[in-house]
Amino acid sequence: MTDHAVIIAGGGPSGLMLAGELALAGVDVAIVERRSSQEVAGSRAGGLHPRTLEVLDQRGIADRFLAEGQKVQVTAFAGIRLDISDCPTRHNYSLGLRQKHIERILAGWIDQLKVPIYRGIEVTGLAQDDTGVDVDLSDGRSLRAQYLVGCDGGRSLVRKAAGVAFPGSDPTISNLIAEAELAETPPEWGIRRDALGTHALGRVEYEIRNGEIVYADHGPVGVLVTEQHVGQTSEPTLSDLSAALIRVYGTDYGIHSPTSISRFTDAARQADSYRRGRVLIAGDAAHVHPPDGGQGLQTGVQDAVNLGWKLAQVVKGVSPESLLDTYHAERHPIGARVLRNTMASIVLRREDERTKALRDTIAELLGMDEPRRRFAAMMSGLDIHYELGEGHPLLGRRMPDLDLLTENGLLRMFSLLHAAKPVLLNLGEPGAFDITSWADRVRLVEAKYVGPWELPSLGPVTAPTAVLVRPDGYVAWVGDPTQPGLADVLTTWFGPPTAT
Ligand SMILES: Cc1cc2nc3c(=O)[nH]c(=O)nc-3n(C[C@H](O)[C@H](O)[C@H](O)COP(=O)(O)OP(=O)(O)OC[C@H]3O[C@@H](n4cnc5c(N)ncnc54)[C@H](O)[C@@H]3O)c2cc1C
Repeated sequence: MTDHAVIIAGGGPSGLMLAGELALAGVDVAIVERRSSQEVAGSRAGGLHPRTLEVLDQRGIADRFLAEGQKVQVTAFAGIRLDISDCPTRHNYSLGLRQKHIERILAGWIDQLKVPIYRGIEVTGLAQDDTGVDVDLSDGRSLRAQYLVGCDGGRSLVRKAAGVAFPGSDPTISNLIAEAELAETPPEWGIRRDALGTHALGRVEYEIRNGEIVYADHGPVGVLVTEQHVGQTSEPTLSDLSAALIRVYGTDYGIHSPTSISRFTDAARQADSYRRGRVLIAGDAAHVHPPDGGQGLQTGVQDAVNLGWKLAQVVKGVSPESLLDTYHAERHPIGARVLRNTMASIVLRREDERTKALRDTIAELLGMDEPRRRFAAMMSGLDIHYELGEGHPLLGRRMPDLDLLTENGLLRMFSLLHAAKPVLLNLGEPGAFDITSWADRVRLVEAKYVGPWELPSLGPVTAPTAVLVRPDGYVAWVGDPTQPGLADVLTTWFGPPTAT
């Protein structure tokens, strides 16, 4: 007997998204979260990138975020701004929205989906056997689940307890990030760069007036300051913050009453395996890297969307356990790429003359159309390509959100994915496909589409006759009714045919 089919350790962005995906698939899932509320101490992620907005749109919840955020039609690599207004997506912008709001909105969604959260409780240990995982809790209880997913952040207990290695590079830079009050008003707000690193002072509170962010002229201040030494392991204190400010600004401006102080570094590490038996990891538990380019939360949320439907099918007995190995196979290279680009970006931000010359050179290159388009697609997650074999360029790439003419009128492709179910989209001769043996799992949609087919980074591609779209919005098959192989692909991704 299990208490839940799946337990998720950690209800940050990755854990919340995964819980939503599993709940949509009808899986009994619960979150165990150390924090007693969804409050996020301090500032972390500052927004959502185009592909993350698309995956939220695929579930019909993007509007909740758009209603509160600020659109900017740029992304950035190493601080070099890249125009994304010509990216072929409805969301050709980044959305400025603080992590505390992103988490609040996601938590509201999973509350609607009735996912239970054990709050104020930590996962303290685990033991897995052939049929499930015993999850030890800090209140002395133990819960049993078929699967445990560690979405418990960079210091993941689940990852460590499952014996998953976390190789990577040690920090070379250490930053303090805090929110506090200042007794004196600094003569300059904003970013300062020097040989030590990047520092910034700015008001926390802001409002949006006529589409512009207007910062408050009083209230708490957000502080980012690079520390002189790397390798501190104790929790940062007010006196650490004060000392770091004095070193950079010559004064600490009378800093007091901090509401949060935390440390982050440029360490870049990635789990060598995203799965160990019945234990999986996602988000920061699987990869940590510097916040440059703002990719951490995006990668975690998209890990969750890749894993959710697969885990749901395994739990329901629709697919064999081996489907879970595709989670590591697909997402590990994506995480590795994020580590690579953040490491490169950190190096390019150094303030010595040679690095500045290199940064200017890269900026010049990225000013050219083709490199800009490629990097913009990479930094916004729109060019993600899972290795699903040779074939049409759509294979393994995200399905665009086309306006489709169906028997129910004009529909957006993404609206067909709201229920997180796979779709076989037939744009050719109606009735040409028979997938009765998968009808309980895969929705066949007959439609017409007359517009262009254009993919981020690749440009125009030939119009396909039919595409099989997975619940995460990636294309598993492209072809026409005469082409063999659809049955095999359906079996691989969505389980064997039912007897008819
Ligand atoms: C300064 C800074 C700026 C950043 N800026 C950006 C940005 O602009 N864009 C971006 O995409 N990302 C950014 N990030 C990264 C982003 O904040 C993280 O990648 C994101 O929060 C990861 O989400 P997660 O759910 O995987 O992990 P976390 O957000 O760390 O959530 C883990 C959760 O697990 C809980 N937990 C931990 N241990 C246990 C346990 N044993 N039992 C139960 N619960 C547990 C924690 O309380 C927490 O709620 C930034 C990070 C920092 C530090």
